[in-house]
Amino acid sequence: MSAQWQEQVSLKPYNTFGIDVRARYFTEAHNDDEVRQALADARQHDVPVLVIGGGSNLLLTADVQALVLRMASRGLRILADDGRRVIVEAEAGEPWHPFVQWSLAQGLAGLENLSLIPGTVGAAPMQNIGAYGVEIKDVFVGLTALDRETGELHDFDLEGCQFAYRDSLFKQHPGRWLILRVRFALSRVMQAHLDYGPVRQRLSEQGISQPTAQNVSDAICSIRREKLPDPVELGNAGSFFKNPVVAAVLADKIRLQYPGLVAYPQADGQMKLAAGWLIEQAGWKGHREGDAGVHRLQSLVLVNYGQATGLQLHQLAQKIQADILERFGVRLEMEPNLY
Ligand code: FAD
Ligand code: NAP
Repeated sequence: MSAQWQEQVSLKPYNTFGIDVRARYFTEAHNDDEVRQALADARQHDVPVLVIGGGSNLLLTADVQALVLRMASRGLRILADDGRRVIVEAEAGEPWHPFVQWSLAQGLAGLENLSLIPGTVGAAPMQNIGAYGVEIKDVFVGLTALDRETGELHDFDLEGCQFAYRDSLFKQHPGRWLILRVRFALSRVMQAHLDYGPVRQRLSEQGISQPTAQNVSDAICSIRREKLPDPVELGNAGSFFKNPVVAAVLADKIRLQYPGLVAYPQADGQMKLAAGWLIEQAGWKGHREGDAGVHRLQSLVLVNYGQATGLQLHQLAQKIQADILERFGVRLEMEPNLY
């Protein structure tokens, strides 16, 4: 094994569920050369590689018999600026929320609705992170990734990433692409997206009718802090299930029995159901099995009260999935990446 690798490292500080499993080997990469070196060493020693960022979208169910390669590359830069549209590039290891704050401090709008999402820039394209009506695809221009099969660099444009709801080409081909840096088109003129959840209401309560991007970011941060558990205090990986998109006839059928069904029409005629609402109706809100539980305020979030294992959390998730399927005929898909 390589001299840079540590052995038998606890991954507890490296996943926001706080699950205490071990990595057989662990190392960090601060630049492209270190990424290439780690991959070459792993290949030479026939060791599989798991790339991680902030570990905020992982469910680790066993010790990881691999080299865990944590992306720690840093760098933020402006590539082009025509006075209105500004192209910025961020290295994969940059923490996401500080990147959003940096962009706002440059007077750039576009990322404000994506404030306070944990994790790194490099993982953001994996599931096309989204919140409050904006997804990274809306401000994305390109990324550079290393093809782990060929060792070649590849530039992806928007179309090439095949972004969809919490999905992308990269999520569809796990382990193939290592994202090195991502480029976004931001704007000196804000196009506000306020009609999602309580954002507009929160701003009007503060007497703000013409919000700046910073105002929107601040409002979203305060809403998120009220609703979501802070992983530093209570282990979690955010939403545990994707919101299911179902046929309109199924939504109508469920509504007959549950008139309060929360459903949003999609462009293709299907309906997106609020998974958290379904889970709450089924009585799981606040449910606890040992140290694995469903958050008491937000049913979509599974939490680790301390010593839960990844397997216990996974078993709880499977029970919820089976119950929701039986009650509503709706299949819930897990959002975090299972290892
Ligand atoms: P990790 O968990 O480290 O990795 C996730 C996946 O990406 C893994 O499969 C990993 O192998 C892969 N990966 C990581 N880095 C790279 C790379 N450089 N190249 C290739 N593959 C890589 N998500 C949302 O979409 N919207 C939200 O509003 C949101 N809110 C959240 C709130 C909380 C409290 C928490 C805990 C999570 C939330 N999430 C949200 C989920 C999560 O923060 C995001 O998915 C985030 O982008 C994950 O980044 P990460 O660096 O932690 O990725
Ligand atoms: P919320 O505002 O209580 O809304 C519940 C669900 O309804 C959301 O998941 C959202 O779907 C959907 N929704 C709300 N208003 C909508 C609208 N106008 N049009 C279409 N769909 C609408 O949700 P929340 O749990 O507090 O989260 C707020 C935002 O942050 C959401 O966008 C959510 O996705 C995001 N978030 C994501 C994670 C994660 O880990 N993935 C964690 C926390 C928060 P969408 O999820 O499709 O947006």
